[in-house]
Amino acid sequence: MFLTHQIPRIHSHFFASPKTPKFFLITSALLSNSKSPIPLPPPPPLSHFSTLTPTATATATATPEDQESLQLSLESLFLPPETDVSSLKEAPLTARILKGSNIVLSKFAGHGVDVVNADFVKSSVKTEECPADGAPEFALVGRSNVGKSSLLNSLVRRKRLALTSKKPGKTQCINHFRINDSWYLVDLPGYGFAAAPHEVRTDWAKFTKDYFLNRPTLVSVFLLIDASIPAKKIDLEYASWLGQNEIPMTLVFTKCDKRKKKKNGGKRPEENVRDFQELIRDFFKSTPPWIMTSSVTNQGRDEILLHMSQLRNYWLKH
Ligand code: GDP
Repeated sequence: MFLTHQIPRIHSHFFASPKTPKFFLITSALLSNSKSPIPLPPPPPLSHFSTLTPTATATATATPEDQESLQLSLESLFLPPETDVSSLKEAPLTARILKGSNIVLSKFAGHGVDVVNADFVKSSVKTEECPADGAPEFALVGRSNVGKSSLLNSLVRRKRLALTSKKPGKTQCINHFRINDSWYLVDLPGYGFAAAPHEVRTDWAKFTKDYFLNRPTLVSVFLLIDASIPAKKIDLEYASWLGQNEIPMTLVFTKCDKRKKKKNGGKRPEENVRDFQELIRDFFKSTPPWIMTSSVTNQGRDEILLHMSQLRNYWLKH
């Protein structure tokens, strides 16, 4: 099933919010109409996707079936910078939304999408020790056991690469992986590890926060949230801190293959995703990008890489 069928309903406070001047309910009728009131840029030429696998280019955005029952508000979408919704023409909106996400593709998506090379570079214990070559980077962070190493390995399609960061002594470090000799994936220490002594946990918090606040090449934090369980307080606190400090953030929901509703009233991933967003809505000025993933089925892998490409290419041009 496709996530956008499950887009959260809009809270009543959403209508009242001063930061919400207009509300659009995007129905399939509007979307199939070329005179949609929310025109978007035409898709990047296919050549832009040349490094992505053929399957990925064919499946990364919503299909006509997905459009049928899609109901999205403009404010619930993530519109990348320079996506002018008032003056652009062409392309139905759903054709520009990445599958299983609220992310609209912009003209910046496409260049250098796939991972050709991935190399572990270094482990740092301070922000100042991180690589200084000025290349853009994305930091992966999440609660211990959220599936961060699995996602990292799925992104680079190389099993056990992330184990480098699980080696003794490296779990508390900022671990840099250089991708395609041009940008970095950064593995940050997992938080909320119950067995860690209190002072160690505090230190982790201190140095990761320092990294978020003082790393000029950080394009976006990718905050991983386990979608197979209800929201945890510590995850909400983390998201809240990032929001309040205006650190660019993408929510990556993991383990979305775990679809079975548990007997004891457990919720499906889509429900947990929706609940999480409602819980964090007030922490952000505008809706952050979010995406559903599974390292078992590789759901979301190509979509994350496309999203990273558009954030990165925009960042490089500004
Ligand atoms: P980390 O501690 O955040 O690096 O988490 P790991 O990547 O080591 O994963 C923790 C556990 O969750 C392992 O048992 C993984 O096999 C499992 N896991 C990770 N990702 C997924 C996923 O997408 N789906 C499912 N079903 N299990 C996952």
